Amino acid sequence: MYEVTIIKSFSAAHLLAEIGGKCEELHGHNFKVEVTVAAKELNPNGLLIDFRFLKKVLDEILENIDHKYLNTLTSFTGMNPSAENIAKYICEKMDLKVKMAGVNMVRVKIWESENAAVTYIPKQ
Ligand SMILES: [Zn+2]
Repeated sequence: MYEVTIIKSFSAAHLLAEIGGKCEELHGHNFKVEVTVAAKELNPNGLLIDFRFLKKVLDEILENIDHKYLNTLTSFTGMNPSAENIAKYICEKMDLKVKMAGVNMVRVKIWESENAAVTYIPKQ
């Protein structure tokens, strides 16, 4: 089994309703996103997947949420746009595209600050 991880970042604003404390107020983060994919076999070129392809797929998804007020996006209607839900959103959006390239999503980790991260792991 091989894994490949890429890291990107984006900035966005959100508020988290009904959790108490400061996070109920509108605020922003510079989020760091770590995406890991895996496959059992390498392609004939000795690669799991082309980094450039993986980065392009992630970039296209981040384009929808970068510099946005996440609570107003239809993707997060009816839920708090928490780091957990953002991680799940990114994972589900990437899933089909990476599967077509022959690899599986392993995890999406979102760093909300230097000291706090959440991880979404899809069902296999
Ligand atoms: Zn926050």
